Amino acid sequence: MLFYILVVSLFLTATYWGSRATSVIAQKIPMDRNHTVIIDAGHGGVDGGATSCSGKLESAFNLEIALRLNDLMHLLGLHTKMIRTSDISVYTQGETIAAKKVSDLKERVRIVSETENGLLVSIHQNTFPDGRYSGAQVFYGPEGEGRELAVQLQQAFIDTVNPGSNRTCKEAEGVYLMQHINCTGILIECGFLSNPEEEAKLRDDSYQQKLCCVIAATVGQFLTK
Ligand SMILES: [Zn+2]
Repeated sequence: MLFYILVVSLFLTATYWGSRATSVIAQKIPMDRNHTVIIDAGHGGVDGGATSCSGKLESAFNLEIALRLNDLMHLLGLHTKMIRTSDISVYTQGETIAAKKVSDLKERVRIVSETENGLLVSIHQNTFPDGRYSGAQVFYGPEGEGRELAVQLQQAFIDTVNPGSNRTCKEAEGVYLMQHINCTGILIECGFLSNPEEEAKLRDDSYQQKLCCVIAATVGQFLTK
């Protein structure tokens, strides 16, 4: 919680003092800065992912949130690498959409694997045929300390944006990217695009910022040992 307040304060002071001055303050926090936080905006380009109840593509939600998260990670003085910064798929081969999707996932694995001391944060949105379901859920890869980070982040969501939620984090079984990376990694389903109330929140700038403050603060705290 303290870290969450810190990230929100950094964000607010950055708007007054500029992000460079704020980053100087953040550098004073004793944090392991040898990691590169790889921010993966899920889907993109030919692969839009799910479609929200108002018709917006998951890939667009993922990119907006990933870009905000990247800014906040920089405010904390952390190195980042973004897998995509625009509406593209990162495939290198394939004729059909299915083949391009396979190539895209392999390429994401390659980018993560070649990053020294990487820590993957993959951003996605959930959907379900029944529109009642809501809340963020965190999944983790089998390598490194993914489970530890996922447990902390799931609790942070419950303490802040999802009060009363009984969701628990789970291993990302059957998720190609998460099963093939060689480092600590989490995949965040930020909320349900099939729930009209939550979908409206996920489209909202200030809610996206709040989600990103929770994620950045938890990763920051995780790296402060
Ligand atoms: Zn997705």
